[in-house]
Amino acid sequence: MPSNLPTHPIALPINPADFSGVDVYAVVGNPIAHSKSPAIHRRFAEQTAQAMHYGTVMPELGAFATVAKAFFAAGGKGMNVTVPFKLDAQALADILTPRAALAGAVNTLWQHDGVLHGDNTDGAGLVRDLQAQAIALSNASICILGAGGAARGVLGPLLEQKPKSIVIANRSIEKAQELQTAFQGLADTHGVLLTVCPVDALGSQSSHAAIEIIINATAAGLSNDSPISDAIAKRIFRPTAFAYDMVYGKVTHFMQQAINRGCRVSDGLGMLVEQAADAFLLWRGSSLTTQLDARAVLDELRQELAAKAP
Ligand code: NDP
Repeated sequence: MPSNLPTHPIALPINPADFSGVDVYAVVGNPIAHSKSPAIHRRFAEQTAQAMHYGTVMPELGAFATVAKAFFAAGGKGMNVTVPFKLDAQALADILTPRAALAGAVNTLWQHDGVLHGDNTDGAGLVRDLQAQAIALSNASICILGAGGAARGVLGPLLEQKPKSIVIANRSIEKAQELQTAFQGLADTHGVLLTVCPVDALGSQSSHAAIEIIINATAAGLSNDSPISDAIAKRIFRPTAFAYDMVYGKVTHFMQQAINRGCRVSDGLGMLVEQAADAFLLWRGSSLTTQLDARAVLDELRQELAAKAP
């Protein structure tokens, strides 16, 4: 069913109608000034010689649908969607990919023949970043901290890698249980043991002693916090474990706890670049895959961040 696009224009900070002959894309979130997506997509466009403009849009809370409809009505080609609008984007899309439907969240929108499509590339981005860092997922024991939109987005692609087990640990256990219910079928299909536990109980079961990959999908790092106490960190971080924080651009408290225990760590910048690469290919065509070098873009961003570090 085609989108119900408004016939009257609203004031857009970036209006596709002003860019005649150039396809216009945007990342939409609130706040959005910190976003690295414009820099990433500018580099992808350079690598693949695509004429396109990519800007930022910050709707008021509650105004996502109005702004997104106006953007696409004015000729906008695609959107990346970030906090806190991924659920709104899912509700707005006319057609969802299976992984976006399962995740219950959309981070990539595009319009084709008047129909708005929604996908979620976060999980594929995480998996590719882990693989690029030589982290073996097949048969691994994984812990995901958090049960919000990010955890939802990555669970499906992680399960498809056939790890031995995934434990979802969250502050509010009910949200972790909802996730378990939503993904139990996929876990069974791939023979993965999917369990939940309150964050405070992590490490209390014998199976937790063998956790090899701990992924922080909570927002705690944004406020320089960690979802786990130092006591729990001592219980679950073995020196051979790998700790991944989806927050990027700094060594978070969670990463520091893991470093203190001798673990290898990563922030989420690689995931950000890889999920953006998938969005770019959805918009511009998979024939560009061989020209796109996400890891080179990641290296450039890391160098920029290092140059800005105090
Ligand atoms: P949500 O708001 O949907 O979920 C937040 C989750 O974090 C909940 O599980 C919440 O627990 C938990 N949480 C928040 N603060 C704390 C805290 N102080 N201690 C313990 N748990 C806490 O956010 P998202 O899932 O959308 O995003 C999570 C993070 O992932 C964000 O920082 C985001 O920037 C990052 N992200 C990074 C991406 C990348 O490409 N690198 C892509 C997507 C997201 P509870 O349920 O108990 O409230």
